[in-house]
Amino acid sequence: MGADGGWRIPASGGRWLVAAASLAVVAWTLALLPSGCQSPSASRTPDLPPGVLQVRPGGNAPAPQASPPSLAKDAPRRPPPPAQRPTVPASEPVIRVRVDTLGAGPVEFAHPSGWLWLKPSTVDQGVTLRSPVSVQAMPDGWRVVQASGQRDAERLELRPGGPLEIHPPRGAAAELQWRGGGWPGFATLVPLQGDGSAQVDLVFHVPMETYLPGVLAKELYKEWAPETYRAQAVAARSYAMCEHAWWQGRRHFDVVAGQASQAWVGATADPKSRDAVADTRGEYLVFDGRVVPAYYSSCCGGAAASATDAIRDGSWMDIAPLSVTDDRFIRAKNCCEKARTASWRVTLPADEFARRLNTWSRDEGRKDLGTLKSVRSISVAERNPAGRPTMYRIVDAGGRKALWGSEDLRYAINGGASGTRDALKSGYLTPRVERGSVVLEGRGHGHGAGMCQYGAETMAKAGRAHAEILRRYYPGATLESSPSSSVEAR
Ligand SMILES: [Zn+2]
Repeated sequence: MGADGGWRIPASGGRWLVAAASLAVVAWTLALLPSGCQSPSASRTPDLPPGVLQVRPGGNAPAPQASPPSLAKDAPRRPPPPAQRPTVPASEPVIRVRVDTLGAGPVEFAHPSGWLWLKPSTVDQGVTLRSPVSVQAMPDGWRVVQASGQRDAERLELRPGGPLEIHPPRGAAAELQWRGGGWPGFATLVPLQGDGSAQVDLVFHVPMETYLPGVLAKELYKEWAPETYRAQAVAARSYAMCEHAWWQGRRHFDVVAGQASQAWVGATADPKSRDAVADTRGEYLVFDGRVVPAYYSSCCGGAAASATDAIRDGSWMDIAPLSVTDDRFIRAKNCCEKARTASWRVTLPADEFARRLNTWSRDEGRKDLGTLKSVRSISVAERNPAGRPTMYRIVDAGGRKALWGSEDLRYAINGGASGTRDALKSGYLTPRVERGSVVLEGRGHGHGAGMCQYGAETMAKAGRAHAEILRRYYPGATLESSPSSSVEAR
């Protein structure tokens, strides 16, 4: 946003106005396609030069047979990372957050100003429409209703197709409204390729410092200490920066709003979250001159994991701050023992346990894990220097042995779980077979790599500052501020 200077908040009284820069184009398009008498062929305009926006009243022409835009959804496997971790950014990055994948129906946005600005991502011009606006992807464009749900609602078609941006009016302080909540930045609807289901990804583009409060507000408990919030702000900022660098040019979002990346509630008024982000503005965790992908999880159970063991998606994590290589993580008695998830237990029938493992290894193409005929015994085969199991040895009823990585085991069990009661909170287990059941005594919650949120809170309550908390959980990393971090530089 901002590259196009031709749009503005319309004066009141206009029925609907388009951006000044696109007026001529729209007029031309309207002349070409008079409302009410389009033939299917007239609705296709293959000769248009690129960068031309079309707005056509009506929006009820038959759908042409064009192919939908092709944009890959989640790749099944994470591609290898770029060669280098990012450096501390000179300016504030814009994070692309996928909030949801929506079905084929219309999606409604609103703005308190009464106006919204819509722009196909591939062209420079946009149109200003009356809020609320509902949009629906068509094979070669977007079916749009302005003043949706109101007496003077008006249907339009917007071309070209492909990703569509929905912006608040320029200069508006209030956020976009979607599903009753406020969402900072601007939204992009990205049609997904493939199964013909006409799904679209909803991605918000949000400046880093505006994005982060909505992460903290959901990642931490309200009563937790301000220093925990500050440590979390730096970790979340550093993590998001690395994801941003990883996915640029390769995918239409950097992070998802949820456990696969980090939680995000959109806009938040929570003062503790906002203050912690402001207090640490532009602060990144750095190791070897580059930003650390600062993974964190809820509760390490008293023994941290190395990121290379716990997170299966790349090579950036093979660095000292994310590796359990000495006894720093072993002195963790007071880390998170008070957490509700410090210890727990899941019991599964041995046959069910084997069934879930077999399903997962088959689906993942892991022939090395073989097929288990129930389970005769299970034990820890390997631990990291902190004492956290990294590998389990399973012997099946036929005497066949298999070695399972702790996180593979967790994913396999949880893939077949019916809810949280029969799912594993972590891969940190003391397992045994007892009377036909596999009993899994577990510790902690999450992958256990990087900062332990409960441990950070323990330190903060003991009076430690956020820099000290981060030093404890990312040994060897330092704090560096972005040159853009000062308010004056904005
Ligand atoms: Zn812990």
